Amino acid sequence: MGLLDIFFGGGGSATEATAPRYTHVKIHPQVDNGIPAEKPGFSGGTLTCKCATNPVVVEVGAQTAHNHVCGCTKCWKPAGAVFSQIAVVGRDHVTVRENGDKLDIVDASAAIQRHACRECGTHMYGRIENTGHPFHGLDFVHTELSDQTGWAAPTFAAFVSSIIESGVDPSRMDDIRGRLSEIGLTPYDCLSPPLMDAIATHVAKQSVH
Ligand SMILES: [Zn+2]
Ligand SMILES: [Zn+2]
Repeated sequence: MGLLDIFFGGGGSATEATAPRYTHVKIHPQVDNGIPAEKPGFSGGTLTCKCATNPVVVEVGAQTAHNHVCGCTKCWKPAGAVFSQIAVVGRDHVTVRENGDKLDIVDASAAIQRHACRECGTHMYGRIENTGHPFHGLDFVHTELSDQTGWAAPTFAAFVSSIIESGVDPSRMDDIRGRLSEIGLTPYDCLSPPLMDAIATHVAKQSVH
């Protein structure tokens, strides 16, 4: 028995070892049937809320970054989805173009002020007004609200354990983490290591005076 057999159990072919096992587990409509490819040079598009008439339209004038699926209880999710999908972009690139009078802030006391359409409930952008916040200057957006293709692809899953707070049975967590891993969205119970490092770096700088 070779070293690889010891690691991978032996006997099984490589194909068997990597075949998806959790295709029955649904995460989010944007990732369940294959993650759309990111387009090099993509420079943004428009987000439209779910209203059939007079929808809110928000222009995002740049490619997004740190796209991920999120299990927290605050992010907006499409009907039936367990996770949201959310990315960041510089706030200077976010402009409300149409029907901005339909936007309300969901919770003005939250660190991220989510501007949502009061008629359909869709969150159009989340903005941080606290200049001391590690992510000040970045807006949070759901690029699934856009017809354009080429947006940054999601690369990880944040706040995975929090879906239990939304009512997911804890017994499903192994399957859900298994599905996230097999589609390449590494599951974390906070943010990804690069984002946690960015927060810690910010805190460290603030505490050295
Ligand atoms: Zn709406
Ligand atoms: Zn979230």
